[in-house]
Amino acid sequence: MCGIIGISSDKDISKELYYGLYSLQHRGQESCGIAVLNEDNNSINYHRGMGLVSDVLRKEELDNLNGNIGIGHVRYSTAGGSHVSNCQPLAGVCRRRKLSIAHNGNLINHNYLRQALEEEGFMFQTSIDSEVILYILSRYYKGNIIDSVKITMDYIKGAYSLVILSEEGLVAVRDPYGFRPLVLGKKGNEYIVSSESSSIDILGGEVIRDIEPGEIVLINNGEVKSYNYKDNYKEKQKTCIFEHVYFARNDAIIDGVNAYEFRVRSGQILAKEDDIDADIVIPVPDSGIPGALGYNKESNIPLKEGLVKNRYVGRTFIKPTQSEREIGVKLKLNPLTSVVKGKSIVLIDDSIVRGTTSKILIDSLRKAGAKEVHLRITSPPVKYSCYFGIDTPRRSQLIASKNSVEDIRKEIGADSLKFLSTDALMKAANCKNIFCMACFDGKYPIEPMVEED
Ligand code: 5GP
Ligand code: MG
Repeated sequence: MCGIIGISSDKDISKELYYGLYSLQHRGQESCGIAVLNEDNNSINYHRGMGLVSDVLRKEELDNLNGNIGIGHVRYSTAGGSHVSNCQPLAGVCRRRKLSIAHNGNLINHNYLRQALEEEGFMFQTSIDSEVILYILSRYYKGNIIDSVKITMDYIKGAYSLVILSEEGLVAVRDPYGFRPLVLGKKGNEYIVSSESSSIDILGGEVIRDIEPGEIVLINNGEVKSYNYKDNYKEKQKTCIFEHVYFARNDAIIDGVNAYEFRVRSGQILAKEDDIDADIVIPVPDSGIPGALGYNKESNIPLKEGLVKNRYVGRTFIKPTQSEREIGVKLKLNPLTSVVKGKSIVLIDDSIVRGTTSKILIDSLRKAGAKEVHLRITSPPVKYSCYFGIDTPRRSQLIASKNSVEDIRKEIGADSLKFLSTDALMKAANCKNIFCMACFDGKYPIEPMVEED
């Protein structure tokens, strides 16, 4: 998963790109970068590096990046390793035409495309799928960026939201299924596209609308032009439901649904379907908080802060080894003994993936004196891997892929365990039938071309 942003303005925008990226930091903390087009000397300049936005994009760097059009990227690796060569935006020159791209999503046919390009002599510098996009784009870019984007879209399959920097302006693209979000906003004479509406709010702009699935938007000199990938052609929209379950910020509005409202509703529905008699509701911060609020609202069981979160610990989820993930969870979350001692607890989290977080938390809550721990999850069991950009690992690592709810309960040591059903998840999403739920129901909108274990 990643976050992308693009700005087209009549003034220098590197600082704004920086703040915009800062507001997308939750979407990726491994690496980041920005690229700007300097129209005076017709060059694309960029700075990228491993680490957080505030560490990589220092004032000295921003001062050297002058331009009125630019793009930015924060990365959470899902295709290609966590390495400095895989930082984005990617940039290059072909037939004296400069291009830079930032990509969110995963292509499912990039291995095949890469092999074909390599056969032709293309020499790749990264191990990410996004480089395939840059090469196909540059190969067909003969002076009309929209034409070359359309040809590229004929080749690439899977999830992609893109921002592209070209001499013709800023281009924003959302794949025909709209797997990953992309929003268009305006601030005076300036246009902003971002993975989440929140960045547009924070930069002081107004959200105009979501970029449509299969839409290509070209922004130049304060003018926005919209193109369809193909005329009279529409795939059924399949935005990733996991954006709402976990990934997006609470204040993000994606395809008309606010992530916070969605999460509160999920908690409410869970409580409505529940009959547990407990003393307190405790969220797993931060992702479990809105769900716990909803559960509390519906059940009237008092909501308490029972876990203290260390704000300086980053993601524990994708640490390479199980023991690192375990110490990571302990460092991140510690029970408040005075709150949990002797209590029967409803513990709310947004999802169970491997089961690491819940197992450790339940164990530590018991050690802190909790009488009972009833775990409630505001999404269904994650049974299937995601090939479209969410880092849900190989099926063998997903605790729900081979275990029943009762087996999972035993494994993580809860007194009881309940998940939200897929129908209830739809209800929480206002019954909008526009979501990919493949991680929960195995119905992949495009057949993934991968070998499963
Ligand atoms: P588990 O510990 O079961 O493997 O993962 C579940 C926990 O990780 C939940 O607390 C959830 O909020 C969080 N989580 C779920 N999906 C992701 C993800 O893609 N990335 C990160 N960083 N955390 C996730
Ligand atoms: Mg969490």
